[in-house]
This record gives sequence, structure tokens and C-alpha cells, in this order.
Amino acid sequence: MMHAITPSVLCLSGHDPAGGAGVHADIEAVAAQGAHALTVITALTVQDSHNVHRVQPVAAALLAAQLECLMADSRIDAVKLGLIGDAGQLPVIADAIRQLGVPVICDPVLRAGGGSNLAAAATVAALREQLFPLIDLLTPNAAEARRLAPGMADLVEAAAALAAAGCRQVLVTGGDEPDGDEVRNLWRRLDGDVQTFHWPRLHAGFHGAGCTLASAIAGRIAVGDDWPRAIEQGQRYTHTALARAYRSGSGRLIPRRT
Ligand code: PLP
Repeated sequence: MMHAITPSVLCLSGHDPAGGAGVHADIEAVAAQGAHALTVITALTVQDSHNVHRVQPVAAALLAAQLECLMADSRIDAVKLGLIGDAGQLPVIADAIRQLGVPVICDPVLRAGGGSNLAAAATVAALREQLFPLIDLLTPNAAEARRLAPGMADLVEAAAALAAAGCRQVLVTGGDEPDGDEVRNLWRRLDGDVQTFHWPRLHAGFHGAGCTLASAIAGRIAVGDDWPRAIEQGQRYTHTALARAYRSGSGRLIPRRT
């Protein structure tokens, strides 16, 4: 019997043993959109539902071998980037993206919700230089947008600076902003227009919300949605997963993605 090929998303992310963020989020959120997740792990971590305690990058040569192997075998419809282990991984990742020529969604993982810094200054600088010109959609939260666009407190200006640095579109999420009962997400579109989405604020701490959103959007793009629909549906899916979140550890809640 012939089997049609299922669209797939190549995910490059860290592993969170607590099952909230990183590759767990990718697999579940991509599958929920009807796509298949191919997962290349950039780093192992020591973490719990409170915070990340240690990041151990995977050797760049091992990433390169995994990417070469998958790219020779599988159809890949979109790429999702999460935690980058170290700056040495970036040329390998950039090379794979150039070869693939498919949409790239990047969640710039700079700081854990629990406060740990997850990206050295050198990695952030290299990310801007080497990857931004290859990114179709960057999905920083407000704090990440401000760190990536230094000096830009205003999020519309920060998104414009990130676009000037090469990212074709930017979706700045406002879950980490002090905005009362509403979360405002700001999408800087391909044409430079800005669209704002409003979601009821869920008054709880979540572990892996950003990964869930970026992966859901990547999954929607892989199954054929255009950008406006993927960005709307990715947010809707994430909001529902957060509204149904569950407790595993004693810290933040885990989005119910499946
Ligand atoms: N660990 C990994 C592997 C991640 O990719 C991320 C975020 O994307 C985190 C931890 C931090 O997640 P959170 O900010 O939800 O705690």
C-alpha cells in the first residue's frame, strides 16, 4: 500500500527533561497541527519546572551529521529553531537552512522563565549576524525582543529593528509584559505593517509557552497555511494549551498540547 508523505518540520531545539519546553513542546505542538516533527537536539539541559540549571551543547559535528542524514531521507516543509547550544552550531544550522530553502520560524531562547540566562553574549551576536537574514518569522517575547534590539524599549520599534537586521517577520509576544488582564502580541508583517492580537491573560506561570507557539506556527506552515492563518491559528492553539495546562512538578505549569 502506498502512503502519502506527511508534511514535516525540522526542529532544532534543546531537551527539557521536565517535558515542558524544547523538543517535547516541538513534537507535541507540531503533531497537533497534523505534521511530523524531525528533531535534532542542540543541547541537553539540567532543569525542572522552576528553572534551567545547566546547558550542555551537542557537538556541532554531530548536529551536522544528523542534519545531513535527515535531509538526504526526509521531505522537510519548514524549520523551527529554538535553543542554540553555542555559537559553533550556527554555521552548521545556517548551511542546512540555505540548502533546504523552506520557511524558517525561530524562537530566540535567551532566558528561561525561571531567570537563567540561556544564551551567551557571543551566541546572541552570532545569531543576529548569521541567522537573522535567514529567518522568515522570529517569535521573541518582549524581554527577548528588547535584548535583541538594544535601546528599543518600544516593541514596535524593536520589531522594526529586528526586521532591519534581516528577520522578514517578527511576532513579539506580550505574556511577560505587565498588561493587566490582556496579553498583546504584535506581528510585524512582511509589508512592514503591524497587527496586534489580544488574548485574555491567564494568571499562571507556564513552562514552554514560547516553544509551543513557534512550533505550532511551524506545523501550520508545513501543512500549507499561509502566514496570516498560521500566526492566528498558532496563537489560538497555544492559548488553548495554556488554558488547559497541568501540573507535573512543583513550579510552573505544562501546556496541555495533545
Ligand atoms: N529549556 C529549553 C530546552 C527551552 O527551549 C526553553 C525555552 O524555549 C526553556 C528551557 C525555557 O522555557 P521557559 O521559558 O518556558 O521556562
